Amino acid sequence: MGVPVSASAEWQARALAVLPGGVNSPVRAMRSIGRDPVFIASAEGSHIRDVDGNEYIDWVCSWGPLILGHADPELVAAVSEAARRGTSYGAPTPGEVLLAEAIVAAMPGVEMVRMTSSGTEAAMSAIRLARAVTGRETLLKFAGCYHGHVDGLLADAGSGLATQGIPASPGVPAGVAAATITIPFNDPAALTQALARHRFAAVLVEPIPANMGLVPAAPGFLELLADGIRANGGLLVFDEVISGFRVARGGAQARLGITPDLTIMGKVIGGGLPAAAYGGSREHMERIAPAGDVYQAGTLSGNPLAVAAGLATLARLDRAAYDRLAALTDRLAAGLREVAAQVGRHPLSVRAVPGLLTPFFRADAPEDYAQARESNLETYGAFCRELLARGVYPPPSQFEAWFPSLAHTDADVDATIAAAGAALAAI
Ligand SMILES: *Cc1c(COP(=O)(O)O)cnc(C)c1O
Repeated sequence: MGVPVSASAEWQARALAVLPGGVNSPVRAMRSIGRDPVFIASAEGSHIRDVDGNEYIDWVCSWGPLILGHADPELVAAVSEAARRGTSYGAPTPGEVLLAEAIVAAMPGVEMVRMTSSGTEAAMSAIRLARAVTGRETLLKFAGCYHGHVDGLLADAGSGLATQGIPASPGVPAGVAAATITIPFNDPAALTQALARHRFAAVLVEPIPANMGLVPAAPGFLELLADGIRANGGLLVFDEVISGFRVARGGAQARLGITPDLTIMGKVIGGGLPAAAYGGSREHMERIAPAGDVYQAGTLSGNPLAVAAGLATLARLDRAAYDRLAALTDRLAAGLREVAAQVGRHPLSVRAVPGLLTPFFRADAPEDYAQARESNLETYGAFCRELLARGVYPPPSQFEAWFPSLAHTDADVDATIAAAGAALAAI
């Protein structure tokens, strides 16, 4: 690699010696866009700064949690104050009750919650509960939907696996993988066939899939899924780790008017600290120990700092906040479409739902994972490299969403659109 010429390059060299791929989560390595990562020193509002002093408008926002933007003063004050009272007790606290009450009040399908430290853990625990409730083992999932790195859910899982071109992971026992049936999203025939062939414990679905890039459900598909899985005798599990508290305070389930049996949450509810949760009806959730017989635990679950960050975040998510996020999303999506049309060299279709969007380098917006993968990944990579050179930090993968926050301004959006126009012209 030659002699490091920047502080980021120096840290990258040291990182590669002690962290696999130099990172603690694969997509951060930026390999799919053909460059090395920048190392981050600090961030504020909509901007992040690297260790060389370069500043970027950040559209990753930690992959979704930072709906208030970086280092929000109220959130930082709440976390600091919590830290002064002690960072963890391993005993119940009022804060976790307040956060659970806020989640229960917001999410139509949630009467009780159990908190965990990561979305992966929440997904793993939700499927354990679904299997206990139904006495069945087989799971149904969709190609391109990501539910964390749970062994049994890694097949065709989108997100970082798509970024690295990994269909499934070595190290997953064959028996575990065999207990998951994976079918294409938005494919009613495949769904009907799978439901006819198997008796499922549950179907897991991102109700607004965002880990193959953003690919919303076709009209009627989720309704068909909800009716079908209930007729089958399995549970409907919505993975709202991204969509929860982002597309609406009540998540995709409120926005779409479909109430799942179990809900997996994360990202926004931790406000940038490690917090996630799963929830559902009182009847199902009271199967969880110590109320019931399904074991699940966590040393740092309901951690006081994470709970303080979550409460500070949810306190700000009112009607006006969602209107603002929707307006920012619209402005960015429309602007990207417009500059792509103006430059005219690279077919671009933008999928957007209030709070998130993905620009796909293909002429038509994709309907499923196979179509998302037919996007021009080389052009997306070049687009990212050109944006980074112009002070804009996009998700370094075609298979992820861009996340506007309440800290982004119209000026940030306009600067991003201008940079995108210049980037597209330079490719
Ligand atoms: C991020 C994500 C997860 C995993 O959450 P972690 O906290 O990274 O373990 C699960 N499901 C969806 C939909 C996600 O986007």
